[in-house]
Amino acid sequence: MSNPEEPHPHDGRARSAVIERGVAKTNRPVSSAVAAPGAATKRHEPSEPDRAHLREKLYEPRKQVHNKRIDGPFRRFKWFVMLVTLGIYYVTPWLRWDRGPYAPDQAVLVDVAHRRFYMFSIEIWPHEFYFVAGLLIMAGVGLFLVTSAVGRAWCGYACPQTVWTDLFQHIDRFVDGDRNARARLDAAPWRWSKVLRRAFKWTIYAAIGFVTGGAWILYFADAPTLFREFFAGEAAPVAYITVAILTLTTVTLGGFMREQVCIYMCPWPRIQSAMLDEKSLMVTYKDWRGEPRGSVKKARRDPEHFGDCIDCMQCVQVCPTGIDIREGPQIGCITCALCIDACDKVMAEVGRPRGLIDYATLEDCEREAKGETPRSPWRTLFRPRTIVYFLVWGGIGVALLFALGTRSRTELTVSPDRNPPYMLMSDGSVRNAFTLNLRNMQSRPRQMEIAVEGLRDATMWSSTVGRADAAPTQVVTVPADQTRSVRAYIAVPPGTPAQDFTFRITAQDEEGESDSVKTRLSAPEDAP
Ligand code: SF4
Ligand code: SF4
Repeated sequence: MSNPEEPHPHDGRARSAVIERGVAKTNRPVSSAVAAPGAATKRHEPSEPDRAHLREKLYEPRKQVHNKRIDGPFRRFKWFVMLVTLGIYYVTPWLRWDRGPYAPDQAVLVDVAHRRFYMFSIEIWPHEFYFVAGLLIMAGVGLFLVTSAVGRAWCGYACPQTVWTDLFQHIDRFVDGDRNARARLDAAPWRWSKVLRRAFKWTIYAAIGFVTGGAWILYFADAPTLFREFFAGEAAPVAYITVAILTLTTVTLGGFMREQVCIYMCPWPRIQSAMLDEKSLMVTYKDWRGEPRGSVKKARRDPEHFGDCIDCMQCVQVCPTGIDIREGPQIGCITCALCIDACDKVMAEVGRPRGLIDYATLEDCEREAKGETPRSPWRTLFRPRTIVYFLVWGGIGVALLFALGTRSRTELTVSPDRNPPYMLMSDGSVRNAFTLNLRNMQSRPRQMEIAVEGLRDATMWSSTVGRADAAPTQVVTVPADQTRSVRAYIAVPPGTPAQDFTFRITAQDEEGESDSVKTRLSAPEDAP
């Protein structure tokens, strides 16, 4: 059944699509390529009769993407980002940072056993988790900022799924050859040569997965020690289980599932689609310039009839998700810009201006299509929406830095005994007992003076200083990076009424940090 549609403004032909020998043929932009990444599409030639519309399918089997090697500025930028991100991931656990003899010397460490997070000179305690929450919020707002400014740049360059998929695709190329060789090998029957080649490739996959999982566990313990224990069979079972799981997931997601993760599993493309607007930069095919497509030969014969696209399919063949950007913005496009490199190369070869596929906003595309000059890319980056995101992002960052710079490394908590609230001593004085928790967040032991303020004639002794040595102040040593509990006993003369007073601790060092807690003295008049 043909479908009556408006003729296309460029060629006056009605649009239709058909499956022929397993290949979808169409002369109209189809969204089916979104559902079926890698689907081969061919034009429906004007000489062919109108075709019936494709029946909707609930399931479309995956077609393996064999993307072609390409070189160009965006590919080189991808190489750079890949080297930096993988380098940071694999090398960071091995970096050392001197924190003195009482703290680990690993620069970045999640010390689960002691409930600490170390990041160079920053040390986060569990009660300071708001710093981590703040960083996560910054990461979220940062993604909003990047998406509204330059579209899905995160997906195209820095997302771990993209980086590892890219790495595995290079392994494919290294072992099996470029696109055509890989497609031939895929279709070839299972002979020994293919079995050996596949075994070699999957061994490399497994090695990458193992190194990835192995690097992950090094963030949770002293890296050199854990490395030695792991290979000596002395590490905790959880280390082996974690490495096994991460090896499996890395190989499965990056080695085999690849673009399917981006298109079907990851929620981020859906969120991003909602965040993009007509002012966001996206990888765009300029159809007003490229259409109608036609080979160089045809264009030479009839230059007026054809656009700049020579239908060479290079943009499709280099695409890591196997889509055809000429069909418009799609969820499968991670904006890696490799198709820009490919098309620019083709345009240079056929002597036409670059930028048939380019980073552009929808608004600028409309302006360009009308023959107007597109706006400067800076105006795309600096607009109210991106500025608001930047201010929120920067505001959170400044607040975190301020909190980090001004936080005290000394803390005190006080718990008065409630049962009984006070005791009458043989000399008639009243004694109250308290549990003081003195926290020393410095990586060295510190002497701290405990003082009672606002309580006349009070004396204090503790679990380590007997009543004979009772005094208004006591000095205790708090070990490095620890909280020390002290039982403090306060005695006041007979007749002292119940009242509020303050415990203050002061570090006996050049920093002299202090903290205080207001509490209450219980006395006989409080008794029921
Ligand atoms: S269409 Fe272009 S930008 Fe989008 S994923 Fe494919 S190669 Fe990358
Ligand atoms: S690479 Fe450029 S010229 Fe070739 S098919 Fe893609 S858009 Fe057309």
